[in-house]
Amino acid sequence: MVRLDNLTVSYRQHPALHHISGQFANGSLTAVIGPNGSGKSTLLKSIMGLLKLSGGHVQVSTPRERIAYLPQMTEIDRSFPMPVRDCVLLGCWSALGAWGGVNADMLARADAAIHQVGLEGFDERTVGSLSSGQFQRVLFARLLVQDADLILLDEPFNAMDSRTTAALLELIKHWHAEGRTVIAVLHDDAQVNAHFGQTVLLARELVAWGDTAAVLTDANLRRARTLAEAWDDSADICHTDEALA
Ligand code: ADP
Ligand code: MG
Repeated sequence: MVRLDNLTVSYRQHPALHHISGQFANGSLTAVIGPNGSGKSTLLKSIMGLLKLSGGHVQVSTPRERIAYLPQMTEIDRSFPMPVRDCVLLGCWSALGAWGGVNADMLARADAAIHQVGLEGFDERTVGSLSSGQFQRVLFARLLVQDADLILLDEPFNAMDSRTTAALLELIKHWHAEGRTVIAVLHDDAQVNAHFGQTVLLARELVAWGDTAAVLTDANLRRARTLAEAWDDSADICHTDEALA
């Protein structure tokens, strides 16, 4: 379904991800973990085809309109005064087409999704007026409406309260039970252990990829940390680079 073959991505000559090979099986539920700056977001963007690769290949068998992507919260602009229902309806984009309008079926699906994430009564509120937990629920409602086969989530629980996290985690497990393929960037090792069968551990290079229990070993986590500490040595180069971005 998703196959990485020697994938390498660089931002202005600085490799963010290099020589990554492996495969996300159909229907798998995979956590992507690693220290800050280890290339997790870069991996999801590469699968989405949003970045120019500097080496290797990404093969995705799922058609573009059957893939859903939830970017990291910090990358989403919600200053646009869009009501909750309209934001959820954007999940229907592949069915809307060039001339299509919103039909009764789409409205019903949006309302069902809003209900499913516990936001009934919020349909008319603008997304900018919501708490970050409520807004993340809106984005999950949009994913529900989108009905994708491959779902990519970048830190879906970051800064979420425990109730929202538990509710959204249930949705992810439900998608997995339905046979969808889910790849989620996460931070909480205990949560990964408890709910995610497969794990990819990144530190710009691939540290380990496989069954979660085999990946989340002390030795692997230590190796990822050691690799990350080495990046700090060249921090001034990276910071200058970012300041120019
Ligand atoms: P993670 O999601 O694991 O924290 P990222 O994939 O966002 O890591 O970033 C990996 C590395 O690439 C980091 O050093 C980051 O600063 C750098 N990077 C990410 N995006 C850009 C960009 N648009 N321009 C320059 N450097 C970037
Ligand atoms: Mg990231």
